[in-house]
Amino acid sequence: MLLELDPTSQVIAGLKIARDMILVMLVDFKGNEIKQSQYMLQDPRMPADTFVQEIRKAVEETCHQADLSLSDVSGISIGLAGMIDAERNFVYWSSSITENNVDFRPKLEAGLPCPAFIENDANLVAKAEQLFGLGRGHRNFLVVTIEHGVGLGIILNGKLHRGERGCGAEFGHTKVQLDGALCQCGQRGCLEAYVSEYALMREAVIAMQDSSPKSVSDIQKRADDGDIGAKSVLERASRMFGMGVSNLINLFDPEQIIVSGAKENIGHLCSDEVLERIKSNVVKVDAPLPEIKPHDWGDLMWAKGATAYGIEQVSILKVKEMASHAS
Ligand SMILES: [Zn+2]
Repeated sequence: MLLELDPTSQVIAGLKIARDMILVMLVDFKGNEIKQSQYMLQDPRMPADTFVQEIRKAVEETCHQADLSLSDVSGISIGLAGMIDAERNFVYWSSSITENNVDFRPKLEAGLPCPAFIENDANLVAKAEQLFGLGRGHRNFLVVTIEHGVGLGIILNGKLHRGERGCGAEFGHTKVQLDGALCQCGQRGCLEAYVSEYALMREAVIAMQDSSPKSVSDIQKRADDGDIGAKSVLERASRMFGMGVSNLINLFDPEQIIVSGAKENIGHLCSDEVLERIKSNVVKVDAPLPEIKPHDWGDLMWAKGATAYGIEQVSILKVKEMASHAS
């Protein structure tokens, strides 16, 4: 049935919502890139209605740059950090949205001229890895994403596992310390509160009193130069991360774990010391450990995953439409 669609006449927009910008990628229905652009955000956190307006503007601007109009777009797929029930376009919580428990279905229908789909961004990275990246040819693997937060995408038996409520992969909010560091989700002791960018920056401001780091690269550089405070911040994060990954291996027994993020954010998390820590914490069996592979694809990968999800969802809608016309 899909052969009846002209793949070049359909435009899909894949979006990655980052803290300070929206990355937009336009592709045709075969996944060929038409245009990508960055749309800067005024505020990293905004009300749900503003969020929908910003999405519309970001896609509209990108279309304009490609000599297209918003009405040419058949579907918009949005990768967002947080706890999301993708089947219902329902966002329980996201660090980008000021309200909790937002039903985006009516908002997206009212604010956009085509179907739109919101999915947890780590799930989209897992999809991108499965289709285009290190996950090709693997049936059971995990993708841990490290950036502002810590995410997880789970591929089990070749399929994305979301859990019953759509929020079954919140690795960043698994607890590694009772009553520990404050997390952006409002709870304490989450892995993310020790490992993510904001956690490192928070620690580093205290540990490196003589200079305030501006980025994780700054901390990394200072640690390489022998700064004891900077080193201790990264070592603590690595210890926590190693413990978290051991728990993942003990739970899922995957073929491989892909650690996805910018090089400066993941280098210290995939060191030999961390691997040794993981080895000593996983159940002992006479078989090799799953491979742990760092992967720095940049924001492109997130957007590529989003476009793949958009193509899949629009295909499902088109098939439904054709079936209803045929009956
Ligand atoms: Zn948390």
